[in-house]
Amino acid sequence: NTAADSAAVDVSARAQQLRDALNLYNHQYYVLDNPTVPDAEYDRLLRELQDIEGARPELKTPDSPTQKVGATPLSAFDNVTHEMPMLSLDNAMNATEFADFYARLQKQLNDTGDVELVCEPKLDGAAVSLLYQDGVLIRAATRGDGETGENITDNVRTINNVPLRLSGDYPQRVEIRGEVYMPLAGFEAYNQKALAAGGKVFANPRNAAAGSLRQLDSKITARRPLEFCSYGLGVVSDDFALPATLSDIFQQIHSWGIKINPELTVAGSLAEAQAFYAGLGDKRHSLPYEIDGTVFKVNNLALQQRLGFVARAPRWAIAYKFPAVEQMTELEQVDFQV
Ligand code: NAD
Repeated sequence: NTAADSAAVDVSARAQQLRDALNLYNHQYYVLDNPTVPDAEYDRLLRELQDIEGARPELKTPDSPTQKVGATPLSAFDNVTHEMPMLSLDNAMNATEFADFYARLQKQLNDTGDVELVCEPKLDGAAVSLLYQDGVLIRAATRGDGETGENITDNVRTINNVPLRLSGDYPQRVEIRGEVYMPLAGFEAYNQKALAAGGKVFANPRNAAAGSLRQLDSKITARRPLEFCSYGLGVVSDDFALPATLSDIFQQIHSWGIKINPELTVAGSLAEAQAFYAGLGDKRHSLPYEIDGTVFKVNNLALQQRLGFVARAPRWAIAYKFPAVEQMTELEQVDFQV
């Protein structure tokens, strides 16, 4: 069947084309902090590749962008090997995809009842791991490609709300994970000053945060208005009994003197989770920082463990995105078509 044969070749060629484009965009975004296409366009191409690989698993290569997190770290910094990989999050782009995620949880857990979800804003910054030994900050690292990140300890030490020493009752060794972001007021003030001085402005707060964190001179980072907010833990030494739920872990993290998000809530059902998404969407533009969606995570840690991970993301969490604000017009999109 020649028609079917040539369609198969087309799909395989298209997959290669998508892999090449996505690898290039990843490099521009993660390594150079300089994206050349809007996120919505990147997401659309990634989805297309995921759909092709879903329908034709033999076309999935081990180095496919669908299997990878971020990009290889810059050699300007020392490497840090993450004891627990720092993964990405799967996305839901609309209400149906979010309901599908919830139904999948119930199916995988073999339980048709409600699943408690922790609800958080999805901060638009850069993922950072903070390692505390005996309560003292001894290392900070970027996510990098998930396995290996960059050692940015000197830079992170300059962020005002990152405690150099934990308070209260903490594990001997604990890795606190979260997002470093540039609040909007600081971002706008920075760009205004840069503009007045004829300097380079940042495209958005995410690039501002990622770029500021990867300065070779930490005095420059110190002048950037950055903040840290935790969204979870990495490795924890076993001298410490962790609570059974993520929401209680957040209270624990807070008691150590670390910022957690004030919007953080627990939803007891799908309807409550949807209401959180709608409510956060309404106040999105009055928040002092940029967000691009909500993150939902299974609250019960034993259930998280049963659900486990896929290649690049946990099965127990999802990023439910807000509609893209930077969606381009149809005419402009033609230029970005690959
Ligand atoms: P992601 O940003 O979609 O999700 C994972 C990240 O979310 C985590 O690493 C963490 O840093 C962050 N996060 C924020 N709040 C969180 C919370 N409450 N809990 C957990 N994590 C939280 O992941 P990604 O894989 O780094 O990047 C994909 C995104 O980057 C997409 O939006 C994509 O469009 C964009 N991107 C764009 C380009 C481009 O060329 N425009 C290229 C690559 C990636």
